[in-house]
Amino acid sequence: MKIFNDKEDLKKYISHLKTQNLKIGFVPTMGALHKGHLSLIERARKDNDIVVVSIFINPTQFDNKNDLNKYPKTLSEDIKLLKNIDCDILFNPSVKEIYSENVDAINFDFEGIENEMEGKFREGHFNGVATVVKLLFEIVTPNSAYFGQKDFQQLQIIKKLIIKEKLNIKIIGCPIFREKDGLAMSSRNVRLNKKERKAAPNIFKVLNEARKKILFGEKVKNVNKFVEEEFKNDPILNLEYFLICNEKSLKVAEELKDSENFRAFIAVYAGEVRLIDNISLKN
Ligand code: AMP
Repeated sequence: MKIFNDKEDLKKYISHLKTQNLKIGFVPTMGALHKGHLSLIERARKDNDIVVVSIFINPTQFDNKNDLNKYPKTLSEDIKLLKNIDCDILFNPSVKEIYSENVDAINFDFEGIENEMEGKFREGHFNGVATVVKLLFEIVTPNSAYFGQKDFQQLQIIKKLIIKEKLNIKIIGCPIFREKDGLAMSSRNVRLNKKERKAAPNIFKVLNEARKKILFGEKVKNVNKFVEEEFKNDPILNLEYFLICNEKSLKVAEELKDSENFRAFIAVYAGEVRLIDNISLKN
């Protein structure tokens, strides 16, 4: 595996690969790699000749300094995992390499989807995400890029970014990879203490129960109430939001129509750690 810190070196290497007509798959990450990340890399491995993974903790997508500072960093273990999974290139730039002196996000207009859910609760988050992904795409110039449905809103934002910026990159959404007990894998899970870790699978359990209720024809407002009640007396998990939204517009739905697809989205605090998850409401 080749490791690059310098974007110009990586650009040169990639343009050399492109002269050989090799297909490039790209998986952007913030590191502290787990099996969820590895599932994206495996998919990229299947579809492409060359797999590029980036590890970059992007400061412009954090609205909370504490969250940024405490973001787990496990670079040497990440490198071992990447070598094992047959990754070809790791791009691990510094903040200066990506942003030069200007650590600022571009202001994007994604027709409102950036202001729903995560956008509401994490100010400027998606401007930060779209800025770094745009910069990384310019450096890596992949044929395809792989994103997890775990961050479903992010996946929709990236699809919009591709259209807005007229980029010729195929965006592939990959399923959520879970622990055996249902907890969605996340780099943040290592920050959970024993009690929090034990309580956390309840997030997916409640999501599943909400899904069943919807499929049995329960009204959205009753399902919302059910979820709120489930967390009300939980001494460890604090519900930030539970929303049922249209998959495309991400607008909150009050009623579900058969002709559209809907998803339930949830954000929960376990102590200081913010966890998100979502589930399709398709039959
Ligand atoms: P992150 O390092 O958290 O920024 O995530 C990098 C990529 O991995 C994003 O596209 C995430 O959606 C994806 N990802 C994170 N956790 C999971 C998971 N449990 N299952 C599938 N994809 C994931």
